[in-house]
Amino acid sequence: MNPVHIIGGGLAGSEAAWQIARRGVPVLLHEMRPERSTAVHKTGQFAELVCSNSFRSDDAEASAIGLLHAEMRRLGSLVMRAADAHKLPAGGALAVDREGFAGAITATLEGEPLIEIRRDEVVSLPPEWDSVIVATGPLTSPALAETIGALTGESALAFFDAIAPIVHRETIDFDIAWFQSRYDKAGPAGSGADYINCPLTRPQYEDFVDALVAGDKIEFHDFETVTPYFDGCLPIEVMAERGRETPRHGPMKPFGLTDPRHPATKPYAVVQLRQDNKLGTLFNMVGFQTKLKHAEQVRIFRTIPGLAKAEFARLGGLHRNTFLNSPKLLDATLRLKAMPRLRFAGQITGCEGYVESAAIGLLAGSFAAAERRGEEPRLPPPTTAHGALIGHITGGHVETIDSGARSFQPMNINFGLFPPLRHGAARDSKKPALCARALGDLDAWIGAAVPHAAE
Ligand SMILES: Cc1cc2nc3c(=O)[nH]c(=O)nc-3n(C[C@H](O)[C@H](O)[C@H](O)COP(=O)(O)OP(=O)(O)OC[C@H]3O[C@@H](n4cnc5c(N)ncnc54)[C@H](O)[C@@H]3O)c2cc1C
Repeated sequence: MNPVHIIGGGLAGSEAAWQIARRGVPVLLHEMRPERSTAVHKTGQFAELVCSNSFRSDDAEASAIGLLHAEMRRLGSLVMRAADAHKLPAGGALAVDREGFAGAITATLEGEPLIEIRRDEVVSLPPEWDSVIVATGPLTSPALAETIGALTGESALAFFDAIAPIVHRETIDFDIAWFQSRYDKAGPAGSGADYINCPLTRPQYEDFVDALVAGDKIEFHDFETVTPYFDGCLPIEVMAERGRETPRHGPMKPFGLTDPRHPATKPYAVVQLRQDNKLGTLFNMVGFQTKLKHAEQVRIFRTIPGLAKAEFARLGGLHRNTFLNSPKLLDATLRLKAMPRLRFAGQITGCEGYVESAAIGLLAGSFAAAERRGEEPRLPPPTTAHGALIGHITGGHVETIDSGARSFQPMNINFGLFPPLRHGAARDSKKPALCARALGDLDAWIGAAVPHAAE
């Protein structure tokens, strides 16, 4: 059997290699470290954690990330096995001893007879590699990024990635906010009432601008200063620093919008939120890319009328990143539509986080192994955390009327990506019900698989 080539031995590539080998398929794992490193990796270990040592909440009854942990354990994840074996006291979170964790993964992969390891930087994709998983992460080496860019037709893969916060729709106060598109314009994909609008009076706007300017911001990393700024989209607080009225003439402009409860009084400024997923459960704050610290974002954005109780599915940020416009470029099993021998995994596909990257590596590995064995790759049910995550990557995103070239953005797993419960549930019991449904459906899916997939 020809090997599956995996490029990148990070969280996704390590998990993919393991999943393929345990299905009896050989792997050639290419990792450029330690010969050549990235701006943030420090060692030659597989699955090195580049920043925090936390896998976040381990609560599989009320948190989406905890649910993802539980599902990965049931699917025989190497990353979760190593995390559990090297966990540290951290309350409800799963934190790991980073050296022990990466050391265990490295030893397992090195000791697996079906995995051959090559310490080389891959810069091109030889035609004889008939099955490849690219798992080179947010800091994909520039030469390979160029090769991928040429294949996908994308002009740039790495850039300053300015992302705006995303809010759970059900936490927005519709006694204050209302749906309307500017000048009621329907556009090619809209209804004329696509945006959620939050109105500000002049004093509220003045206070908000003061808070943006004074808010605590994240400093740039050295490695970010050499990356081009994408699309020139300025963080909202930088706009506010340029002039008190600048946001009001930019993303916060009030024109073409009428508050139905006070039609005679025009708001001084408006914050608009735009639908972010097909389900209509998540809305992003238009033009609110920011490098304010996360706690500051929550504090300041909750002062916006209508968002006092907002829960955020993702907070804004600005950092270097490399990822594909996956909903457009990848098929349902993560293959590049234009060249199906290439499959992508990890953060480069548009998920965010250690655990999410490993989960997508797990799925990519299982799909590639199935293909090699002449079997049909099986997609996880959309109600599971794995299904919700891959759904976001390959098809859950909506391109809305003026979303721009790069509207798809990496995201952590969150409950907004799950299909709603069929019969609804009280607020308190919703998360446990979504988790129970996910684990039930996952077990049924595993049970229906051929025995090796459920080991
Ligand atoms: C600065 C920074 C901080 C982050 N902090 C966190 C955090 O605290 N918590 C969190 O959950 N997530 C964090 N992330 C996000 C992300 O989840 C992690 O980066 C995660 O490691 C992504 O997993 P991955 O497998 O996709 O990529 P990686 O784990 O980065 O693995 C990619 C691997 O590919 C190798 N590689 C790259 N190019 C080539 C090539 N051409 N040939 C061969 N090998 C190559 C790299 O050396 C690397 O080992 C952070 C990201 C960055 C950039």
